[in-house]
Amino acid sequence: MTDNQDLIDLVRTIPDYPKPGIQFRDVSTLLLDGPAFRRTIDRMIALVDPDSFDVIAGIEARGFIVSAAMSYALEKGKVMLRKPGKLPGKAVSIDYALEYGSDRIEMHVDAIQPGQRVLLVDDLLATGGTAMAGVELLRGQGAIVSQALFIVDLPDLGGAQKLSAAGVKPLALMA
Ligand code: IMP
Repeated sequence: MTDNQDLIDLVRTIPDYPKPGIQFRDVSTLLLDGPAFRRTIDRMIALVDPDSFDVIAGIEARGFIVSAAMSYALEKGKVMLRKPGKLPGKAVSIDYALEYGSDRIEMHVDAIQPGQRVLLVDDLLATGGTAMAGVELLRGQGAIVSQALFIVDLPDLGGAQKLSAAGVKPLALMA
């Protein structure tokens, strides 16, 4: 069996979502399976050295699901990178291009202490636009971001290369 084939089998592909020509990798079917969800988190944790980061930053919304579970298991603080207009305190934001359209994420300015080492977590890496926006936002507040962790990496879309070029090691359970 290929590594993580049990989890790969639970991710379904939905054609033409959200636009014609896009093959959407849907992890909701993986999350519905409790034991598989737990194995997903356990194996994501196994890909990193918990001593190599201080806090975990998750990207809204599916990134919150995996990053929160990791934060709980590792007792690491959780930084929220949110969709626009959701944060009550003083926030910084960054606009970025998506595989389909554009978007913006925001973070509280006091969510990071300068010099803190951050593990960036999201469900899926495609073009890398979202993850790179997260890296820039975090680094802009003085964070050290040297690794990013995903359930799925779509290597043909170049995100992993983009992160590597920016000094961020991309890690994923499946490609
Ligand atoms: P990127 O910015 O092109 O790397 O796209 C990654 C972001 O868009 C992540 O936050 C994903 O949640 C979302 N995304 C893009 N494509 C897919 C997909 O096929 N399945 C699930 N999420 C996706």
